[in-house]
Amino acid sequence: MRLLLVEDDPMIGSAVRAGLLDAGFAVDWVTDGRAAELALANDVYDLAVLDLGLPKADGMTLLAALRGAGRTIPVLVATARDAVSDRVAGLEAGADDYLLKPFDMDELVARVRALLRRHAGSGSPLLKAGALVLDPVRRQVTLDGTAVALSAREFAVLEALMQRPGAVLSREKLEESVYGWGQEVGSNAIEVHLHHLRRKLGPGVIHNVRGVGYRVDA
Ligand code: CA
Repeated sequence: MRLLLVEDDPMIGSAVRAGLLDAGFAVDWVTDGRAAELALANDVYDLAVLDLGLPKADGMTLLAALRGAGRTIPVLVATARDAVSDRVAGLEAGADDYLLKPFDMDELVARVRALLRRHAGSGSPLLKAGALVLDPVRRQVTLDGTAVALSAREFAVLEALMQRPGAVLSREKLEESVYGWGQEVGSNAIEVHLHHLRRKLGPGVIHNVRGVGYRVDA
């Protein structure tokens, strides 16, 4: 899952970025409204965490433009503006949820996951493929009812595959869903994660479609 973080405060931005990375998301962080517009125009994100008071282009303007263009990406507004009228205006401009600063990182992560679930149109947070069950909220994977211990990156790779059962995801696509900009990605990092996943899950779960990518069947 790839998130865009739009936050001009360096302290808050680095803390939120670290918290979201810890939770297993790929995160791109931009610090002004113009950079956010560019990122949203050029990259595909699963969700945006948006501050309202931003240099170059205000968060509310950005949100209105996004919705005006018919973009349905979930947006969680995280801001210090606490007047009720601001909150109402934000929601009416198309925010999916609203979090007031200062907020607790656990709450932010929980709200991000809830929005992603809602956006995927699934009330059930569990992803299933045969005997394999992935719980995105508790960060747990079980195979035939037995817990499987995965690293955060292995979990993110498996989650990306299980979100689209039957679909073949290329190595580049998997990289995008696991790593943000500026993160060092070794050329065979995804293959290494897949190798470990195969060892832990057995050979029949993740299929390699030669020259195209990888697939988990429903
Ligand atoms: Ca700000």
